[in-house]
Amino acid sequence: MVTCEKCGRFYKAKEKEAENLCLDCRNSAPLYLFARSVVPFEGPVREALHSFKFCGRRELAVPFGELMASLAAFLFPVGSLGAVIPVPLHEKRLRERGFNQAALLSERVSRILKIPVCEEALLRSRETPSQTSLSREQRLANLRGAFEGGRGLTACKGAAVLLLDDVYTTGATVQECSRVLTACGVKEVYVVTLAAGIMNAGRQDKPQKA
Ligand SMILES: [Zn+2]
Repeated sequence: MVTCEKCGRFYKAKEKEAENLCLDCRNSAPLYLFARSVVPFEGPVREALHSFKFCGRRELAVPFGELMASLAAFLFPVGSLGAVIPVPLHEKRLRERGFNQAALLSERVSRILKIPVCEEALLRSRETPSQTSLSREQRLANLRGAFEGGRGLTACKGAAVLLLDDVYTTGATVQECSRVLTACGVKEVYVVTLAAGIMNAGRQDKPQKA
């Protein structure tokens, strides 16, 4: 399986059949520099992520975080990154779940890479309806204005940061977060997620639902 050079989503295609950039990245350039994921969002990883998020298996943040930190250290200039920033959950969702999975993963990644985590850099100011049945364009519209820069962002001005989430589905969430971060003065955004959607090369890109 090969990946899109920009967003890191996976292609189910032989290398020679795949494009360097997926259709989404060709049509509208992402506002982050690079996004990469450890594994495709399928099989046992998909099940483990479900247990992590919805069955309270918080301890899975340890192996997941270690994998994400290793990938980031291998691909990104982690020595020059100023902060690890988790994609925030809305307060209501946070109360329901009891934790933000991206924040738990960020703690682990921060500890391994020795980059401070800045949990208050981004705030989810608006609750958004479930995204699972929406297209990428609908997700982008749905998320517009859902995030805002928080108190912690002042320290990230002019810096490169590592934005972190559990799954990269259509990329709408990290795109909107990157828009807010760069508008608030962050210089470069790198993205790492545990898993990413799988696309069929040469067809309309339709990643699996999260
Ligand atoms: Zn792409």
